[in-house]
Amino acid sequence: MPAARNTNLTMSEELNFLPSITGSFAQPAAENPTVEMVEAAYRHHGLHFRYLNTEVTPENLAAAVAGARAMNWVGFNCSIPHKIAVIEHLDGLGESATVIGAVNCVVRRDGQYIGENTDGKGFLKSLQEIIDPTGKRIVMFGAGGAARAIGVECSLAGASHLTIVNRGEARGHKLTTLLNDQTSAKAVFEKWDGDYTIPENTDVVINATSIGLADAEARLALNVDSLKENMVVADVIPNPPRTQLIRDAEAKGCRVLDGLGMLVNQGITGIEYWTGTTADGAVMRARLEELFGG
Ligand code: NDP
Repeated sequence: MPAARNTNLTMSEELNFLPSITGSFAQPAAENPTVEMVEAAYRHHGLHFRYLNTEVTPENLAAAVAGARAMNWVGFNCSIPHKIAVIEHLDGLGESATVIGAVNCVVRRDGQYIGENTDGKGFLKSLQEIIDPTGKRIVMFGAGGAARAIGVECSLAGASHLTIVNRGEARGHKLTTLLNDQTSAKAVFEKWDGDYTIPENTDVVINATSIGLADAEARLALNVDSLKENMVVADVIPNPPRTQLIRDAEAKGCRVLDGLGMLVNQGITGIEYWTGTTADGAVMRARLEELFGG
């Protein structure tokens, strides 16, 4: 049962009109449902916290972080396009953010803002509910912030081989080098040029690009017939969760993982960092499913 908030205003010693503030800096921000999911958890657990979804331009990022400090925010998420740029405004980085080179969750510890990365951990946790990545071969589309986080965490969790398929060569090579240098997985880069055919010995296929965000019809350049029923197919896109890739993979008999699982799991870790409470993921997912119709 959610803890009830006191509504008896005569008990003045319990009155506290100053919630702890958390939130998000991103551009665009309107498509991001995190605020609904996090506030559902705050309400459910009776936490005197708020989460403010704000749109912050790259030019205003420094001022936004300074504002958060001035207002004593407990922490905040960073999303597109601030995950790397925010680092220079912070006081330090946690371990995964250091390896990944990107921050999606900032936590105030002893008055200092420390950057963490919960994207990859959130993805890994939902993947592990379906398949153990140890020794598995992964094909991942994308080489941006989300792909870096997922690639690092899957490799550290024991995936044996990653093929990074990306449109831009520089980012693709950079991620491949990072994985080969920092983890024991073998990573190779393939330039994404036309419809990609998934090799038959692939265990897990991941879309870590932004293709499909706010567009249920958007297609990855992919030979859909190369998706086989023994493959797990995961999409990072949370909005809408039933992307074209997820629907194609289901039609081919694959086990699928939508972007909501990753969103909920990285949210649980963020809330734990900020409040010390382990939030109920079912409550968070239920709120998202209510919004997106399951
Ligand atoms: P980035 O901007 O860092 O990276 C975007 C990636 O998508 C790049 O690899 C880019 O390729 C590729 N891409 C974009 N458009 C195209 C296109 N038309 N054709 C081919 N490739 C394309 O973004 P992030 O990595 O931070 O985020 C990616 C997605 O992940 C977002 O949509 C976000 O919503 C989602 N996400 C979901 C989370 C969740 O919890 N479910 C958490 C974090 C992110 P190139 O290098 O060639 O430009």
